[in-house]
Amino acid sequence: MSGVFGALLESRDWLLADGAVGTNLFRMGLEPGEAPELWNATDPGRVRALHEGWVGAGCDIFLTNSFGANASRLARHDAEDRVYDLNRRAAEIAREVADAAGRPVAVGGSIGPTGEGVGPGGSLDASAAEAMFGEQARGLRDGGADLVWIETFSAPAEFEAAVRAAAAAGLPWCGTMSFDTNGRTMAGLDVAGFAALVAGLPAPPLAFGANCGVGASDLVRSLIGLAGAAPGAALIAKANAGVPKFVSGRILYDGTPELMARYALLARDAGARIIGGCCGSTPAHLGAMRVALESRPRGAAPDLAAITGALGPLSPAETGPGTGS
Ligand SMILES: [Zn+2]
Repeated sequence: MSGVFGALLESRDWLLADGAVGTNLFRMGLEPGEAPELWNATDPGRVRALHEGWVGAGCDIFLTNSFGANASRLARHDAEDRVYDLNRRAAEIAREVADAAGRPVAVGGSIGPTGEGVGPGGSLDASAAEAMFGEQARGLRDGGADLVWIETFSAPAEFEAAVRAAAAAGLPWCGTMSFDTNGRTMAGLDVAGFAALVAGLPAPPLAFGANCGVGASDLVRSLIGLAGAAPGAALIAKANAGVPKFVSGRILYDGTPELMARYALLARDAGARIIGGCCGSTPAHLGAMRVALESRPRGAAPDLAAITGALGPLSPAETGPGTGS
């Protein structure tokens, strides 16, 4: 294992990842319907401020503002010809902040799904998806990302296309899927299926796991399943700050920093090596998680009663797809 992230993973029992990008950029003035990645060109100061928030909270790795910067999503903003530049810029902004941290901090180049169906019956075949992710991965690499971080995926064929693109760009990768539909991804994959998918990929990951989905309880349950299906793997947990609630047409997350601190400990006890937040998680949440993780060592894996007692009930079985990144 090489690079700053590999060295951190080898030398520490756990690492703190970052929280949500979308939620925080909305807080900083992003308008609904606006592409956050365009800020890499028009408003890098606010992107930098978010990155600095993660470093200040004690994160060991944070992600670039490039989740939706693929040609398919950027086409909705007439920016499909700016994929390479926006990704490169995203990585450059993040690199500057990481290098100024005064301690080793890694930059993960965020790649999210295309928003198209990929694979049999979908609108994109796997090679077209790989080409699309490849353009993104090269921009992230040239801007200085340490690795590609594939997140919030649902479809196995699309996940594999992103992994192949990262490997072709010469970057190591981490990847997470979103188990938001009764313990499965929207495409129907469960944690055992995900572990089997990862084991069969041509390039092994630095780490893999679960992000987003529904509430923090559900995510810790997914982690326990992943730990059983992939013993010894470096696992990632990035849970939403509480359960998404629709209030006046907006999605709100009411999980407190205290709840996320309890979640961080349970996620680590469940087997996670890399722990962060997803939707609704601010630097204040991440700071509380860091303090909690430093307060005691890893413990035994929790049972369901301990998880729901600390974090609230699991989502009902009929829970549908969640909410993006
Ligand atoms: Zn999320």
